[in-house]
Amino acid sequence: MRLVLMGPPGVGKGTQATRLKDHYGLVHLSTGDILRQEVAAKTDLGLRSKEFIDHGHLVPDEILLDMMENRLRQPDCQKGYLLDGFPRTIPQAKGLEIILQRLNQNLDAVISLTADEQELIQRLVLRGKTSGRSDDTPEVIKKRQRVYWEATAPLLEFYRQKGLLKEVDGTGSVSEITERIIKTLES
Ligand code: ADP
Repeated sequence: MRLVLMGPPGVGKGTQATRLKDHYGLVHLSTGDILRQEVAAKTDLGLRSKEFIDHGHLVPDEILLDMMENRLRQPDCQKGYLLDGFPRTIPQAKGLEIILQRLNQNLDAVISLTADEQELIQRLVLRGKTSGRSDDTPEVIKKRQRVYWEATAPLLEFYRQKGLLKEVDGTGSVSEITERIIKTLES
């Protein structure tokens, strides 16, 4: 199975991704996690990405597309994968389609987790106290939210038109939300 998990910052994508990965035996590809590892290791990719991340901006599409094409070609991705945080723009989604064509693969579904914006900001400010992430400050969180609505939300329509979009309520307990996602995928 090949899935995309979408949703605004703070909606719990990472938490749900880990659970879905275990449930379905998928590879979990979080572009945020991959980029943070690159930054920590001070690789060329990391050095080129750090400023964008710290300001709540998106890392340029070409960087993401190269990085993900390389990753999706790795043998472990043959068993199926869950994309978390990618694609995040229309050009990334179109680039992903080309990558998938080359790999002779299709997406099975795009899950969009939804939640109220005020609740999201509160969750993120709380997380910022313990996450140690350089971009979990109130100001950068607001910027990331804006970027989501401007650059990423248009993807919902893109995938709706392809008949892939499945919207799932992201409020409630962690396990309730996982069950909702699994039910939606299996209905
Ligand atoms: P969140 O969804 O909680 O904001 P992520 O961990 O997914 O956080 O991403 C953190 C940062 O990494 C983003 O704000 C952005 O700078 C960068 N990033 C992650 N994925 C992408 C992507 N697909 N395109 C561009 N930038 C990305």
